[in-house]
Amino acid sequence: MEFDGRVAIITGAASGIGRACALELARRGANICVVDQAGEDVMIQTSHLLKETGARVATFTADVTDHGKASRIVAETRARMGRVDMLVNAAGVNSDAPIWDITESQWDRVLNVNLKGTFNYLHAVATLFRDQRSGKIVNIASIQALRGSFGISNYAASKAGVIGLTKSAAVELGRSNVNVNAVAPGFIRTPMTERLPARIMEEAEREAVLGRIGEPQDVANLVAFLCSELARHITGEVIKVDGGQLI
Ligand code: NAP
Repeated sequence: MEFDGRVAIITGAASGIGRACALELARRGANICVVDQAGEDVMIQTSHLLKETGARVATFTADVTDHGKASRIVAETRARMGRVDMLVNAAGVNSDAPIWDITESQWDRVLNVNLKGTFNYLHAVATLFRDQRSGKIVNIASIQALRGSFGISNYAASKAGVIGLTKSAAVELGRSNVNVNAVAPGFIRTPMTERLPARIMEEAEREAVLGRIGEPQDVANLVAFLCSELARHITGEVIKVDGGQLI
């Protein structure tokens, strides 16, 4: 799983799972393009951490829902780093409420960031990856796409959409030697989940047959594998990393 000189674009790379993925690919030799809407201090800190691995780093402060910006960032990454080989879509949000209380703006925001944001970056690399006849795309979905849970209809629908998008893109890009997969984490300890009520983490811990809460590195290990040539024959898959939370 070595990525010497390869270039990965990672959305949501300034925090949690995205940052762990960026660091794991960087430690294995990749140069990294960080796309996130985080504040300047967090972007600088992320860039610093990545550069400590020896990686070249480009940072872009951007909202992934901005369709035009995705193409500009891919073009700029190529111009600065010479190539693009991998895309990890990790930017995501939640905004929980039961279906009778959920507002239109809560619905739109979660669908826009999680699903349209993933589409935007997948779309922005698709022609490049097709024409260069190589590329690895990993979309971060969720086990919540595979079951129902209380108060997350918008989130679950967005992540189910990510899975549908992943499978169709895998079909369309397969003949061009491009792998497109989704990872479905269970409950992972990140800033996103630290904001949730404690009982949700306790329930996840009870559900997980391995009896523990996942860490961002657990997801990053799988993402690195899927980006590597070891996974060359895997595409259109949804792989859970959830400690057996959903069996
Ligand atoms: P996180 O720590 O909140 O990281 C998400 C990052 O994405 C943050 O830096 C956030 O910036 C950024 N982001 C949010 N909206 C954005 C936008 N519109 N444009 C650009 N950047 C944006 O969350 P995480 O837990 O690592 O989640 C990463 C991914 O894993 C998400 O897709 C999430 O749905 C998925 N996931 C997480 C879990 C879990 O248990 N943690 C489980 C399953 C799936 P700000 O903080 O500044 O908004």
